[in-house]
Order: sequence, then C-alpha cells, then structure tokens
Amino acid sequence: MKAAFYYDTNDFRVEEINLNQGSDDLIVEVKSVGICGTDVHKAVNKTVHPPIVLGHEVCGKVISRGSNVTKFQPGDRVALAHHASCRVCKLCLKGHDSLCDQYLRTNLDPGGFATHVRVPRENIQNTTLKIVDSITYEEGAFMEPLSCCLRGLKRLAMCPGDSALVIGSGPIGLIFVQLLRAFNSGTIFISDFVEYRLHQARENGASYAINLKKEDMKEYIMDKTDNQGVDVIINTVGISSAYQQGLEVISKGGHYLFFAETYDSGTINLDPNLIYSKELDFVGSYSSSPDYYQMGLDLIQHNQIDVKKLISHRFKLDEIAKAIQLAHEASESLKIMINP
Ligand SMILES: [Zn+2]
Ligand SMILES: [Zn+2]
Repeated sequence: MKAAFYYDTNDFRVEEINLNQGSDDLIVEVKSVGICGTDVHKAVNKTVHPPIVLGHEVCGKVISRGSNVTKFQPGDRVALAHHASCRVCKLCLKGHDSLCDQYLRTNLDPGGFATHVRVPRENIQNTTLKIVDSITYEEGAFMEPLSCCLRGLKRLAMCPGDSALVIGSGPIGLIFVQLLRAFNSGTIFISDFVEYRLHQARENGASYAINLKKEDMKEYIMDKTDNQGVDVIINTVGISSAYQQGLEVISKGGHYLFFAETYDSGTINLDPNLIYSKELDFVGSYSSSPDYYQMGLDLIQHNQIDVKKLISHRFKLDEIAKAIQLAHEASESLKIMINP
C-alpha cells in the first residue's frame, strides 16, 4: 500500500503506508481519484502542513472490512467522500452539514491520493455509496464534486427557465452547465479566459461562452438580455474580482451563488441598495452533504449528466506533481484523474 505525500508544491513522494484497520473500518483499493481545485490550492499556496496526503474525490473497490461492518463487503465498488457530518446536530438538521463540528474532524485515511484508504465508521455510514456496474470508477469519482454542485443549485432556489451565468469554465463550471441544462434552465452564459475551456463549455450545453480576453462581459450580457441581466449567477472562481463582475450583470430578483473560496485578500464593493432595490438573494455553499451523493450518482447512471467528457487527462500516482501543475495552469485541461 502506497500514498503520495505532499511535501512541497513540486515535491510529492510516493511512500509505503500501513493502514491499521479497526473493527469498524473498511479498506478500499483506490481505482480513481479526481484532482479538485482545493487540492491544487493547498499544494500551490502551501496552506497545509506537510507531509500530508491530499485527494478526496475517490472511487474504488472494498478489499476488506472490520468485524462490525455489515453495510459493505469485499468486492463492492464504492464512491467515497472525505468528510462526514453527524446528521443530528442543529446545523445538520438545518441542512448545513458542512458546518457541523464533526465534518472537518473526519477524513479518509491517509487521503485519496493513495493506492488504498481506510474508511472510518462515520464515513461508512454517511459518505460511502455503492456504484452500479454500468458506471466506471472514474465516473464514480465524480460523486463528490457533483454532489457539491447539486447542493449549491438546491440552495439557489432557482426556477426552471431562469437564465444563468457560470463564472469559470473549469470542471466545476462545466458540471454546473450540464446540471443547468438537465434542470431546464434558460439561456446559459459562461465566462473564462481560456478558449479551450470555452469550447468545452459550448460542447457541454452553454448557450454563450464569453472570452474575457476579447469581450466585455457586462456589455455582452446586457446586449443578449435586452439590458435585463441574468437571473442566476454562479461563481466558481476563487478571485474577489470575479465575484464583483457577477454583481454587474445580475437581474432584478436575481440569485447569486458564492461557490468558490477566494484566495486573494480582496473584497467586493456592494451597495446595499442594489440588494434592496433589486431584491437579490445571495447564498453560499461550501462542500456537500449526504443528501446529494445518491442524487449525483443517479444522474450519472441515468445518463443525465455525462461526466466522462469532462475528463481531459489521466495520470498514475507517481505523476501527481505533474498532474497538480497541469491543473494549476488551468488552460488546456479539465478534470484530471489519478488512477493509482
Ligand atoms: Zn473538492
Ligand atoms: Zn452535525
């Protein structure tokens, strides 16, 4: 058993690990694990203390189980998520699972960028789901990011037919585009600086893909919407100025989803009268909750969401530094998979 330990941005080391399986745990052989933007952020901006194993979009096969585990058995193909809420505290009952005290205390051991992980009891209960034989491990690895997006959409309370702007045409932005299409959204705008990604956005169902190197977003959107702006803004880019841009094109009665953590120290300027006079709703959505894992898998299984076409690259575990670098460049790549 091995894991890729992060030591520094370009220094990941594949080392032997010893997983101590307890009677309440599962051991899962990792078949596919996706690279998330937060993995890239942690590695590039050095916000975690090395050595540490990153990776949390995991799918694999159960190889052993502790004596108290009855829910799964060896051979089961499972999708995993890293943090497990308690499901009974006040925040969980209100749907804020990701803010639960238990949430960040739970994790897969040692982390997803590994050949094997130990899945503790809390995760077995709430964040581990069997996948059907008709989907691949790579597709199963999308359970976690897809469920985050589904939860974001649910919190937005948008209506079918609403127009939308997705800021950022990375893997998450494209999942949103596909979900908006499946949700019978109206016109879908998406913005980015990279033509490759905008092309992919059109392929995934965006009505208009705006290249911010060439177009003024406000002018473009106002022109296409008869100066009304868009009903729903979804920002997937962790930069304050991206949030600011969204404010310029939100319509009356609009909803704004804050979906990305910002990595600069910037702020946004917000005139209170904008919210008051336009009756705007702002919602944040961090991570996911168990309510959305099965929903995400069902959308994949029923071919309503095609996550396969979001995968642009595949790497082995010992190529993780290269894979993280490619994801960081955020140019001619989309979802990057590690297949250990
Ligand atoms: Zn993630
Ligand atoms: Zn809780």
